[in-house]
Order: sequence, then structure tokens, then C-alpha cells
Amino acid sequence: MEKLFIGGQWQEPRQGGRLEVINPATEEPFATVAAATSLDVEAAVEAAVSAQANWGGSRGSERAVYLRAIAQAIRTHQDELARLEVQDNGKPLPEAAWDVGDAAGCFEFYAGLAEDLDARQGEAVALPDERFSTKIYHEPVGPSGLIIPWNYPLLMAAWKVAPALAAGCTCVLKPSELTPMTALRLAQICSDIELPAGVMNVLTGLGADTGAPMAAHPQLRKVAFTGSVPTGRSVMLAGAQEIKVVSLELGGKSPFLVFDDADIEAAVEWIMFGIFWNQGQVCSATSRLLVQQNLAGPLLERLCQEAARIPIGPGLEPGVKLGPLVSASQRLRVEGYVSRALVQGARLLTGGQRARELGYFYQPTVLANLSDESEAWCEEIFGPVLAVSTFSSEAEGVARANQSPFGLAAAVMSSDLERCQRVARQLEAGIVWINCSQPTFTEAPWGGVKHSGVGRELGRWGLSNYLEVKQVTTYQSRDPWGWYLGH
Ligand code: NAD
Repeated sequence: MEKLFIGGQWQEPRQGGRLEVINPATEEPFATVAAATSLDVEAAVEAAVSAQANWGGSRGSERAVYLRAIAQAIRTHQDELARLEVQDNGKPLPEAAWDVGDAAGCFEFYAGLAEDLDARQGEAVALPDERFSTKIYHEPVGPSGLIIPWNYPLLMAAWKVAPALAAGCTCVLKPSELTPMTALRLAQICSDIELPAGVMNVLTGLGADTGAPMAAHPQLRKVAFTGSVPTGRSVMLAGAQEIKVVSLELGGKSPFLVFDDADIEAAVEWIMFGIFWNQGQVCSATSRLLVQQNLAGPLLERLCQEAARIPIGPGLEPGVKLGPLVSASQRLRVEGYVSRALVQGARLLTGGQRARELGYFYQPTVLANLSDESEAWCEEIFGPVLAVSTFSSEAEGVARANQSPFGLAAAVMSSDLERCQRVARQLEAGIVWINCSQPTFTEAPWGGVKHSGVGRELGRWGLSNYLEVKQVTTYQSRDPWGWYLGH
């Protein structure tokens, strides 16, 4: 897989660059991929532009056939794809298998919405003046640049490619340089199912050399980006130059509020899932725990006992729940946050060390005694590190939960469901979980407020991301100025 997928063909990178792909469990390179540059971006955009008229002009029901074929092929190769994801990203195999199944489900879901789109074309809008009639059409935005991160490589590709194709947009997909393998495999699947040439193009490469020219390219009318806030900002700035349609799914520092009437064992389970799942490399990870004072002692004791017992190891080893972090630099980043927090007076309740000699493993870690201004409390660490604090009243808990530049997700746990609903409405976040943390459904909207992003993915909102709405208004009278003079 040392080539780029452009216009339905595997092509050599025009400047010949290559990147090594490292297995984070062994620290060994296991593959080499092409490093695309702006010349390749130019070729891929040209291919997407040439394919746009036919693809965008096809019926949703025709596109649905291709989307279902992609889903079917993903399911056929589920085990192979899941193992590739483990090699690339490090996550435990059952989680990778779940991601792959969910990616297939995402293509199936958007196949259904592509069909529904046909029925919605030409819907009438009621107007106050009956001499006029207006019909509404949903049209593809046009060739779209899709830039994704490394934490859920295939799933993030599916979240963007499936709605883009369903809407009738051709695409250029750029996976993260750290985890390019399953996107290339998806390109092969698109080729195998005979998706028309140029409808889907995949460029592997570095952010600066591949992502930046995509974000700035005038013929990519839409850019959908998932990644960090600083990169998202630069993508938005580049898009502003061309007045592009830009959607951003950025980071978070999501709060988990646990009230003192919560069930301790359930709370421990969901808190752990919320921060240690995928090694904490989850944009919506509930990485700030706010626990009501009366419950704090017993809850934290149980939490630390359980966190210290999580089986750590290579993702292919049976029974493993926590794999390595994605890269050496990601582990350094996590270590940096923890050591600076300790220097600043944080208390280490558990973890705080590398978990193995070989591989980028890091222990599940819990930090307490952090000020509300400290970086470990405020910034996204993107690793298995939970920052803990206590609160006394509901009002204080909500206010401190909202004290963040981010607003992706939040969780609240209490046996008083009315309180949970009340608190949920007050939390500044795009997603709020009650009595759980992280469950995600293809049918429901996903995205954040404040610095966590712009727009929503998934569900019907994800399809709207790739559609423009057009009104076609007909005047049914012969009187040329009737409407104007009537006012
Ligand atoms: P990143 O911003 O470093 O990279 C994301 C993607 O952008 C990669 O493909 C990268 O190559 C590319 N890129 C880098 N520089 C670029 C540039 N100048 N122009 C265009 N593209 C460029 O993020 P990451 O480290 O891969 O991912 C981690 C971040 O992603 C975290 O902050 C996390 O919260 C966020 N994330 C958010 C969501 C969500 O749904 N909100 C989901 C997953 C990850």
C-alpha cells in the first residue's frame, strides 16, 4: 500500500515521498505508505471534480446501492480490518472489531438516508401568496475534503465518507499519518465494488503537506475536519479564504458529574469506561470527574482499586482492556502533563507510570488536588488520565462543569432522574449522557459547542453537512408586477 488512490487508480506519489507506519505495541515499523504533497492533492481534487457531475446528479437510490456494497465488503473483511486497526492504532481487538462493525453500520444507515433524499426532493413550501409556488431541493455541496485523526481511523473515515457519498459529494479523504492503513483498505474496497472512478480518493501524508493544501484548495467546496483545536482553527482560516463550508469536530475536556445518591459500583464502571476506553484517546472522554463531597471518599477508593486492575497489553492479546498509546510522542505528551501536575502539587491516586518496557503503554492514572486553573484540569490530555475534584451543591457542580473553553460532551449520574434532566439542560455541551458515558449511536447527532467545534455529524444532521438547500420558486400569474405592487 505504498500508493495513493486517485481517480480510481493506485498512483505513485508525484514527489516520491514515503512514511513509515509504526506498531505502537512493538515500536516497530510494519508498513510504508506514500507521502502525498500538493501535486497529489491537485490530482485528487481534479479527479473528484471530474466525477462530481455524474455522482451528484445520480439518484440517492443509486448511490445507496454502492453504500450498501461498501458496508457488505467491510463486514466480509471485518476481522482483517480489525487486526489492521490494532496494528496501526494499538487498541484492543474487541474494540477494533466493534469499530469496524459500526463503520459498516454507518454506511448502511446513510444508504437509507440517500434513498429518503429522493422522496424529499421537490417538497413544497406553503407561501402566503398563492400565485407563487416554491419547491425545495437538496443538492450536494460538491467535492469535499475529509481530514481525520488517528483515534478511530476507520470509524472516523466512515462518519465522513458515508454521508458525503450519500449526499452526492465526491471526496478526497486524508487519514492521519499515524494510522493510514484502514483508509487505504477502504479505498481498495471502493475499487473492488466498482465505485465510479474519482468519487472517492485517498491521500496518505503529513498534515502540513497534504491536509493544509486540501483545506486551502478552492475546488474542494466543503472541508470536514476532525482533530485538534489548533489544526481545526487553521482549517477554518484556510476555508474562510474561499468561503468554504467547514465543519469541525475538535477536542474536549468533558465533565462527569456524580451526585452523592449515585450507585457507587455503577459510577465506578462508567467513570472508568469514560476515561480509559481507547486509552483515553477519545475526544468525548469524560476526563474531568466532579464528585459530590459526601461520596468522594468511598467512590475514589473503589475507582482506584479497579483502575489498577485493568489488564494492560498488546491489543491482540486476549483479555486486554488497555492497549498502548498511539505513538511515542503521544506518550511523552501524557507524561508531560502528569509530571507537571505533580510538580504543581497534584496528588497521584493511582498510575502515573509507563506500564511496560516495550510499546507505548501508560498506566490508568487518577490525579486529585488540582486547581480549577491548572493545565491538567483545563486542557485535553488525550490519554488515560482522570482529573478529579469535588463539589457540594448542584449549582456549584454545574458552574464548574461549564467552566471550560470546550463543550463536546458531559455526563451526569444520580438516582434522581429529574435532577439529571435539569442538569443536562444546563450543561454547555453538544452531547450529555445520563447515568452512562460514551455510548454513541449513528442515528443521533454528534458534535460540540464552544472550542469543541462547529456543526454536527451522524444522523440526519450528518447528511445536512454535505447538502445545500435550493428553493425553486415559480410565479403562476401573467401580471409582471403583481407581487410587488400588491405589497
Ligand atoms: P491533529 O489536529 O493533529 O490531526 C488531525 C488531522 O489533521 C490529521 O490527519 C493530520 O494529519 C491533519 N493535519 C495536521 N495539520 C494540518 C493542517 N495544517 N491542515 C490540515 N490538516 C492537518 O489531531 P490528532 O492528533 O490526529 O487527533 C487528536 C485530536 O482530535 C484531539 O484533540 C481529539 O479531541 C480530536 N478528536 C475529536 C473528535 C470529535 O469528534 N470531536 C474525534 C476524534 C478526535
